[in-house]
Amino acid sequence: MTKHIFVTGGVVSSLGKGLTSASIGLLLEQRGLNVRMQKLDPYINVDPGTMSPFQHGEVYVLDDGSETDLDLGHYERFTNSPLSRKSNYTTGQIYSSVIEKERRGDYLGNTVQVVPHITDEIKEAVLNLGGSDVDVVITELGGTVGDIEGLPFLEAIRQIPLDIGKENCLFIHLTLVPYLKAAQEAKTKPTQHSVGQLRQIGIQPDILIVRTERELGRENCEKIALFCNVEKNAVIEERDKDFSIYEVPLGLVESKLDQLIIQKLQLPSQPIDIGQWRDLIHRLRNPQHEVTIAVVGKYIEHRDAYKSIYESLEHAGVANETRVLVKRVSAEELEADGPELLLRGVDGILCPGGFGERGIEGKVEAVRFARECEIPYFGICLGMQCAVIEFARNALGLEGAHSSEFADETEHPVICLLDEQRSVTHKGATMRLGAQPCVLESDSHSAEAYGKTEIDERHRHRYEFNPEYRDQFIAAGMLPTGTSPDGKLVEIVEIPAHPWFVAVQFHPEFKSKPIAAHPLFAGFVAAAVQQHHQRQHQGQF
Ligand code: GLN
Repeated sequence: MTKHIFVTGGVVSSLGKGLTSASIGLLLEQRGLNVRMQKLDPYINVDPGTMSPFQHGEVYVLDDGSETDLDLGHYERFTNSPLSRKSNYTTGQIYSSVIEKERRGDYLGNTVQVVPHITDEIKEAVLNLGGSDVDVVITELGGTVGDIEGLPFLEAIRQIPLDIGKENCLFIHLTLVPYLKAAQEAKTKPTQHSVGQLRQIGIQPDILIVRTERELGRENCEKIALFCNVEKNAVIEERDKDFSIYEVPLGLVESKLDQLIIQKLQLPSQPIDIGQWRDLIHRLRNPQHEVTIAVVGKYIEHRDAYKSIYESLEHAGVANETRVLVKRVSAEELEADGPELLLRGVDGILCPGGFGERGIEGKVEAVRFARECEIPYFGICLGMQCAVIEFARNALGLEGAHSSEFADETEHPVICLLDEQRSVTHKGATMRLGAQPCVLESDSHSAEAYGKTEIDERHRHRYEFNPEYRDQFIAAGMLPTGTSPDGKLVEIVEIPAHPWFVAVQFHPEFKSKPIAAHPLFAGFVAAAVQQHHQRQHQGQF
């Protein structure tokens, strides 16, 4: 029988519930258990695909093409749980499905209500992830206890122990104990209130994970246990990790959280093997080299907008024994101040994906700088399209070349919509999405990095390289080194005359793991390290 763990959050948002859930998944996997991960998001959007990265951070794309919450990125980076559409549900999805059933007449004349119809739909979404081969499903509930929109979800998970047995369910609540400087005291009251709210709904948490800046101390733990009706050993302190998020699981092992979960759910398990993770932290702490990579983007000030890109750079650093310092460069500032000022001295330039015209000229300038100064360049999705635009304008002399996303009337639409996207009117889930196969030219940086010529990578875009310009690009030295198997779609371009210039139409950042860096990110950082040493020799520092 599959056991279910529910992770809720209280006091404030941004406590790192996703990271903690992913870490729990990792610990249980390292104890030999088969785990599935899931996120329930109480917002009304059917998926985060239509939300601005400024509001909600990055949209994380899965192999099956679903556009999901960025916490699923943590799940994939920390665990081996296979993720699909079933791994992320929103209020919008739950209601759409219930309304569709109502229109079909499935409810046979009944009044359709939040309880039981919406809650039944939620329960089905949770229980569906279980199965004979699954030991544990970890379901994280987005938002904070007390949010109006979270109520149907809480009510649904409250009911689950009644359906499948109390002994098969575990409620973990993540809270915050703030430290008040003026009083020189840690305050447990917000935690008491948030657990109080949960208990009013009918959920008694089994384990509290307490986020705190400073050590909590035994007295505070005992106080929390008493007032929240939780066993003393079930109050787990989770101190802030300044160095790396990858330290979180190690902290939880030290607090014996895995033992506690195993014991409470009576799970069969083997001793924990966390050696690989310890080795990762050791490598992160002891780099041999250091490089600076500029990430030139539109959503630079939002910490989570390029989450997987930053994580992938860190993984690539581990693979190259290198500390990767990221310089976040606003594409708009670059447009105004010029590349010299903002990019001089960096060892590599990365342009990530994006939508909308703002900052485009800055990105194109960043590409020109990388190309002309022979600085390793890695373009991703929109970053690839900008590389193509730049090359068309400055190497092919096609004046005003652009993407038809930004300049419909351009004489040279080197990036344009292909047939299947022309008729699309709806914005939600209508892009070219999910895993697509790609064939690589054997004599390319890409093939060298992957060590093979057949790959598949995740996509999320509408526009494509315009095939009409292909021959001109090849003649001038920008080659399509990766294409769809039928040869029609250009998925990768490279400039062989440049030390490392690789631009891809897909999103490799969604397939990088801390202990298995993505080959292209690893290749890019390796090229940046080489560039750094070369310039050091030439005395350019
Ligand atoms: N806006 C571009 C397109 O739709 C690029 C998308 C992206 O970078 N994810 O094709």
